[in-house]
Amino acid sequence: MRESIELVEETRERRLKEEFRHLSLEEREELLKKYHPDYKEGTKRPLKIGPNKGMIAPHEVIDLLEAHPLIKPEQIDLSQVDYETDILIIGGGGAGMTAALWAVYSGVSPEDILIVTKLRLGDSNSVMSQGGVQAADRPPDSPTRHFLDVIGGGHFANDRQLVRTLTMEAPYMMRWLEELGLMFDKDEEGNMIELWGCGTSCRRMHSCKDYTGMEIVRVLR
Ligand SMILES: Cc1cc2nc3c(=O)[nH]c(=O)nc-3n(C[C@H](O)[C@H](O)[C@H](O)COP(=O)(O)OP(=O)(O)OC[C@H]3O[C@@H](n4cnc5c(N)ncnc54)[C@H](O)[C@@H]3O)c2cc1C
Repeated sequence: MRESIELVEETRERRLKEEFRHLSLEEREELLKKYHPDYKEGTKRPLKIGPNKGMIAPHEVIDLLEAHPLIKPEQIDLSQVDYETDILIIGGGGAGMTAALWAVYSGVSPEDILIVTKLRLGDSNSVMSQGGVQAADRPPDSPTRHFLDVIGGGHFANDRQLVRTLTMEAPYMMRWLEELGLMFDKDEEGNMIELWGCGTSCRRMHSCKDYTGMEIVRVLR
């Protein structure tokens, strides 16, 4: 580590003056094929089994999906019911916890809801997300504009109904999270600070420094 720091310091002056020319499309392609795991030849293969049969993925992922399960079927006794529940939620990330809370709001008793999750409640991608959440909650932005950004960003392949729900309900969900105690970044006057997100035509990303997901999971948990 110390050696690397010394190398960076020794070469800083030279590197600051260095200029890099733009690569041509062919040169970029060549570079990607040489170094990028998504482009290198021989790094992927089709999946042989399951509902995603035929899907191309890196060898490491396919190896996992095609591996024999650690649990042997004969070790599981399905004639014995261990738990009974009205609502079973699989996964304890942001979506799972939100679903559980909304089930309670709609009148389901918490005793009738069971969350099963791989690790501890909240151990998820949700807790690791950093940048922020998009919601069009301030003019001149609008949920319709947000809808168009998402559809365009998805090359028109998105499920429109899903995008509609996501974009139309996002402002409400921001308010809901705030009511739960989520501390969004705000300016001195108490207005939400909204940042640029990738592929958007408006600043509409709401964040909590660089630990937005951790803050969301804190209030949901
Ligand atoms: C480092 C990082 C940064 C990110 N930054 C952003 C960002 O800035 N903005 C943004 O919008 N998105 C971001 N994302 C993406 C975002 O975090 C996810 O899209 C979102 O959190 C998904 O939520 P979820 O509840 O559907 O899934 P998850 O949060 O992944 O929850 C899934 C849950 O299911 C459990 N589970 C999985 N398999 C099983 C099983 N077989 N049985 C039981 N339980 C299981 C998991 O343990 C987990 O608890 C980021 C993701 C990562 C990893």
